[in-house]
Amino acid sequence: MDDLNYGTRDKRGNWTPNEKLVHAPLFAFPPKPLALLKWLPSYFLPWNILWALSAVAWWAWIIPEAEVMRTIGWGWVLWLFAANSVAVFLFYGAIELHLYIRRAQGNRFKYNAKFPAEHKSSAFMFQSQTLDSLIRAFCSGVPIWTAWEVLILWAWANGYGPWVGLYDNPWYLLAVWLALPVIHEAHFFLIHRLIHTPFLYKWVHSVHHNSVNPSPWSSLSMHPVEHLLYFATAAYHFLIPSHPLLAIYQLHFAGFGAVVGHIGFDRIEVTEDRAVESHAFAHYLHHKYFEVNYGDGLIPLDKWFGTWHDGSKDGDARMQARYEKRKAKANAAKANAAKA
Ligand SMILES: [Zn+2]
Ligand SMILES: [Zn+2]
Repeated sequence: MDDLNYGTRDKRGNWTPNEKLVHAPLFAFPPKPLALLKWLPSYFLPWNILWALSAVAWWAWIIPEAEVMRTIGWGWVLWLFAANSVAVFLFYGAIELHLYIRRAQGNRFKYNAKFPAEHKSSAFMFQSQTLDSLIRAFCSGVPIWTAWEVLILWAWANGYGPWVGLYDNPWYLLAVWLALPVIHEAHFFLIHRLIHTPFLYKWVHSVHHNSVNPSPWSSLSMHPVEHLLYFATAAYHFLIPSHPLLAIYQLHFAGFGAVVGHIGFDRIEVTEDRAVESHAFAHYLHHKYFEVNYGDGLIPLDKWFGTWHDGSKDGDARMQARYEKRKAKANAAKANAAKA
């Protein structure tokens, strides 16, 4: 496919889409019903439907009987850890293999012209972004994801929490399922904003930002404290009446869904003339500029807090103006302190 029909490439080879990033019209005021209808398929495709299918598969084939889960035992806990590890390895590995190792679509639709494997950096263990990310994903990410999963399932098996039977109120559970990405977005924005405060950034979140040019494995490359906070979306299912199948969906949304922002390509080619949109641009800009797009735009939180970057030249100018203003404020404060 000719990606120049959809965007432009600069002198360094970095590709930028022509279309500005826009928020989902979900919270538009006044409401925009037509825009909402047009946007709706992208709420499900290609990703959310995939996590829903994986959650159902887990419930059907991976999750043990409630009786087994009433007591915490190494057998079923390690089984869940193994299943999650294999799934993460296959899923992330397949995307990495296709786009970054075999480079099946070359540089087409790739935001950053460079491939991380070509550049060693002392910021990473073994100077390798991929190895560093793999270690963090399997030694901290998947264990903490599994720990939240075990907690949820153990609580459900023992009747601790406001659980609803799958067939007692299916319409209610369907409505909860539809709202879960919104909960994820609000939670992610909140913790993400929190770990960008100076102390937590330095000790926790800077690990994730070592990947300035993210690739699929960067998705779960986080400090354990960030993993703990990130997968804490599962805890909302102790607050809202829910079913563990939905809590698993929530965990898959976070665990597998982390890939969405880190894929590095705007579109993934499926045939000679067809490509699916990856929805990666908002979070790519966050990795590039650090202090924009704390959320992914499902809720216009970044717009409300003045940190939205839509990928355009105007967006760049707005970001620069914000930085200048902050610098001036900091300088004025310093000057005042010196006077006193
Ligand atoms: Zn990221
Ligand atoms: Zn960040």
